[in-house]
Amino acid sequence: MAHVLVIEDDPGIRSAVIRALTARGHAVDSTTTGLDGLQHILSGDPEVVILDLGLPDVPGERLLGMIRSVSQVPIIVATARDDEELIVRLLDEGADDYLVKPYSPEQLEARLRAVLRRAAAAADPTPAAVTVGGLEIDPARRTASVDGAPLDLTRLEFDVLAYLAANPGRVVSRKELLREVWQRTDSARTVDVHLSWLRRKLGDDLDDPRFIHVHRGVGVLLEDSVASPDA
Ligand code: CA
Repeated sequence: MAHVLVIEDDPGIRSAVIRALTARGHAVDSTTTGLDGLQHILSGDPEVVILDLGLPDVPGERLLGMIRSVSQVPIIVATARDDEELIVRLLDEGADDYLVKPYSPEQLEARLRAVLRRAAAAADPTPAAVTVGGLEIDPARRTASVDGAPLDLTRLEFDVLAYLAANPGRVVSRKELLREVWQRTDSARTVDVHLSWLRRKLGDDLDDPRFIHVHRGVGVLLEDSVASPDA
């Protein structure tokens, strides 16, 4: 259950989203313009924002920047266009996740839960062990295992896996991995190479991976498709 702010100008979509969220027990506020939304973030203190990118007053991309300059509230952007470049840019500019319209109430709820989980994890500074389905990662001991079998990972492979596991259910861009794990901004190829090694060690089938799911052009998502309720 969360306090959700929906910024959406389309009345049909807005009421459908509000209905879906309230049916799942969330407390929902909504605005139809970007500036009202920004005002509401400052005064209403929502726990998560669902932001439509096609708003009448401010381009969604600009509004994202405006929100980020005043608040760290998790933001899920909703875009009508399946535009990979835009999505990558928005994730880099501070969006926490994205939905491509039309999206189902189940997708909305899954993204919402993932974002809230991450926000809660970020608020807790102790690096607790993380479980993603059959995958277990212990950041304190720097160990990982699949279905109880320990993995033999290099330092970088472990760091990549731990970063992805700390962001479960979210597509992480290569740029973000480079920045957060390598502390660099060049050569996404480096990320691809390490991801392919990691997939081999996790026993992932390239065509039907269990853990590392590549969203072409966008990034990579860690999820146990065997144990996932979304599968
Ligand atoms: Ca719109």
